[in-house]
Amino acid sequence: MKKHNFSAGPSVLAREVIENTAKAVLDFNGSGLSILEISHRGKDFQAVMDETVALFKEVLNIPEGYQVLFLGGGASLQFSMVPFNLLNKKAAYLETGVWAKKAIKEAKFFGEVQVIGSSADKNFSYIPKGWTIPSDVDYFHFTSNNTIYGTEIFDDFDSTVPMVADMSSDIFSRPMDVSKYAMIYGGAQKNLGPAGVTFVVVREDVLGKVDRPIPTMLNYKTHIAEGSMFNTPPCLPIYTCLETLRWLKKLGGLEVMQKMNQDKAKLLYDEIDRNSIFEGTAAKDSRSLMNICFVLKPDYQHLEADFLSLTSKKGMSGLKGHRSVGGFRASTYNALAKESVIALVEAMQEFEKMHSVK
Ligand SMILES: *Cc1c(COP(=O)(O)O)cnc(C)c1O
Repeated sequence: MKKHNFSAGPSVLAREVIENTAKAVLDFNGSGLSILEISHRGKDFQAVMDETVALFKEVLNIPEGYQVLFLGGGASLQFSMVPFNLLNKKAAYLETGVWAKKAIKEAKFFGEVQVIGSSADKNFSYIPKGWTIPSDVDYFHFTSNNTIYGTEIFDDFDSTVPMVADMSSDIFSRPMDVSKYAMIYGGAQKNLGPAGVTFVVVREDVLGKVDRPIPTMLNYKTHIAEGSMFNTPPCLPIYTCLETLRWLKKLGGLEVMQKMNQDKAKLLYDEIDRNSIFEGTAAKDSRSLMNICFVLKPDYQHLEADFLSLTSKKGMSGLKGHRSVGGFRASTYNALAKESVIALVEAMQEFEKMHSVK
């Protein structure tokens, strides 16, 4: 039986994406070869790469002047590659969680970092307000969705300096204005594909402005010049991304996706707010559509393992919250079906009936 998969990452993929990937592993396009055993330089794989880049641009509505790259190293390598390629003197960062902190740590190897806003005082349970993007920095960096804490930034800010976003966990969840950004990057394994490939969207005119030499593999220009084929790319993960992009397009694109995601999130947040024994952990005005964090109210916290065991019996997986927040986290990425959210809401109602003292 297929489980309700609420995992934060690697995470749920559409069934047809997994099936089509499995088919390509056994016999790629009727070639008699597995996609695992063909050259990345052959025309069959080049066609995969070309279609993946083209669909990525089409579905995300990327304007002229941007390149889409598929690299290794995860979003975590981008924490270093971004400042390596863009930071001359100073960069501004928004500190909204562990991933933002890790990005800040790496940027400090290359220059000065100005943290212009932080929600560290309340365990990153809200998106900081009242900050402005300085005009004297090389770029401004933020994390659009804070996977661990369940907070999300929905604004494509106006910035006079190049704006860079880690969108690992909310890329393709809603329409966005790519033209506001100099760079967007993320690991594929949250909302796009399997682990092993990192997407980078970069506006070419921001490159080539730092004084330092950049090692070949860490230079975006290398990968642009070689169409992400300077070295062997992660072929199979790229193929799965292609299948996800085909699926997204077939469903109607990002506006349809956004409505589905809002609908699923509302179902669950409404139940969290209604239920007498559960409560949400993120500030209401900062709530993520992708990762929904909640806990048992203080009087009921001893029942945490019982709730996990109930949901597990009902075929739900991946609901345990991150250790730095505790409780539960339901990741409601694009490919999670509404039925899975309904099943979780029903389990919460059943659990309330079993345990509520009111
Ligand atoms: C998962 C995640 C990362 C880390 O990605 P890796 O590919 O494992 O390096 C970075 N940022 C955010 C927002 C994430 O959710």
